Amino acid sequence: MTHPVALIDHYINGQRVPGTSGRHLDVCNPATGAVSAQVVLATAAEVDKAVQAAASAFPGWADTPPIRRARILFKFLQLLNEHKDKLAHLITAEHGKVFSDAQGKVARGIEIVEFACGIPQLLKGDYTEQVSSHIDNWTVRQALGVVAGVTPFNFPVMVPMWMFPLAIAAGNTFVLKPSPIDPSPSLLIAQLFKQAGLPDGVFNVVQGDKEAVDALLELPLVQAISFVGSTPIAHAIYEAGARHGKRVQALGGAKNHMVVMPDADIDQAVDALIGAGFGSAGERCMAISVAILVGDVADRLIPKLVERTQALKVLNGENPAAEMGPLISRAAYERIAHYIALGVQEGARLLVDGRHFQGSEAGPGCEDGFWMGGTLFDGLTPQMRIYQEEIFGPVLGCMRVANLEQAIERVNAHAFGNGVACFTRDGHVAREFARRIQVGMVGINVPLPVPMAWHGFGGWKKSLYGDMHAYGEEGVRFYTRQKSIMQRWPERIAKGAQFVMPTTQ
Ligand code: NAD
Repeated sequence: MTHPVALIDHYINGQRVPGTSGRHLDVCNPATGAVSAQVVLATAAEVDKAVQAAASAFPGWADTPPIRRARILFKFLQLLNEHKDKLAHLITAEHGKVFSDAQGKVARGIEIVEFACGIPQLLKGDYTEQVSSHIDNWTVRQALGVVAGVTPFNFPVMVPMWMFPLAIAAGNTFVLKPSPIDPSPSLLIAQLFKQAGLPDGVFNVVQGDKEAVDALLELPLVQAISFVGSTPIAHAIYEAGARHGKRVQALGGAKNHMVVMPDADIDQAVDALIGAGFGSAGERCMAISVAILVGDVADRLIPKLVERTQALKVLNGENPAAEMGPLISRAAYERIAHYIALGVQEGARLLVDGRHFQGSEAGPGCEDGFWMGGTLFDGLTPQMRIYQEEIFGPVLGCMRVANLEQAIERVNAHAFGNGVACFTRDGHVAREFARRIQVGMVGINVPLPVPMAWHGFGGWKKSLYGDMHAYGEEGVRFYTRQKSIMQRWPERIAKGAQFVMPTTQ
């Protein structure tokens, strides 16, 4: 069978493996709308093959001393740094985001690899000497076995790197199921890891959709699943994973608020809202989609926000002047356009309408791309669906409240709890806000408070199912299990049976 474009296939046991399902999905350049490749979609049998390869590689890899595993990661880190722009170009070509943004996200992924290089230190256990006469007690953390990652389209390098560097550093073997929408970076990553000396079977990639994910959920050899994506799928994966006896961390969707207090620097707040609302076309789980304007802020801030939204440089992501690129797909355009129409129907005031933007304005060849300009609403209320639901596009809504109390109430009443920001110059307000807000990641005068590699990433409420955050020390805990060892070396053999716990003596 001949294919008009390149085929993006699987990577199993150290080599590219063609798909056998006969099912494919077009991979597009969102800027032009052109099909650039086709990605194969795995069958359950192909997923099983990847899991078997990972299971065979596990004993040897888990037995490899952590310092030697770390040395391979150091080499991988060096190769990633050498190829980071290549990865960023792949992201821009298949996701559409602005190249400098793609570079930034590759850098944030690389930081997790840097953190994972410290695995010998991270795996150190606790030790208590002499818990009773001649008895010591210590804990170790051991790898789980085969673990899997299922990732979304919006960060095709960074989000997989929230998972596999730590999982592999800790001694597990890994099967990645990337988003089929922008799958190419996964294969370059696999190739670089092999080049760094990673044994075959330790890192595998299966391209696919629900069928592949269902297989990962059902296969008994898979011990744990990390998922990042939309809330309904996160919830379904959490339930199915638990039913199959697996550990699951399932990070879901978001609706992130930015509260602007009357004492905030208005220009700084406008800059933050424009960058965090429209950067990456709003296709970030940490994007700000609601501005909560306190007191008289709205009258001072909204005219500037309108002006800046209208002036956004929406261009092909490869254009260095671009501030915002295209949407991911035509389906995304339809969904977001539907939400804009719904907002008008619900009574929100449409101040800037991104639906008027034409691809031809984004540069030559962009006429058939998936383009939309920035959209701005005022007058959001808690009852509106455009307030309650995740739109995941370049749509920013403003909501007016009287005071800090009301702002905190609104945020805490929302079903999602991923990220939140508060802009103020008042230390007491900032402290109260950070302490009382029911959201997993909080920024004070920082609109996108994505935690650093050693702090861990995770929201609350419908933004995370499971009890451990991605990466950071919680990431290490997620990918390992604790064993407690109690040991006695008596001077001489004790006489007689003992009927009490040895430590009570
Ligand atoms: P998605 O839920 O559609 O897909 C995520 C992954 O799940 C993909 O690999 C996809 O192939 C797979 N999948 C899709 N449908 C499935 C099904 N029915 N059963 C099993 N697997 C399925 O998400 P997306 O559109 O790729 O990404 C955008 C979403 O991800 C947004 O909701 C965004 O907020 C969220 N996200 C969250 C975070 C976070 O950290 N909380 C980070 C990035 C993205």
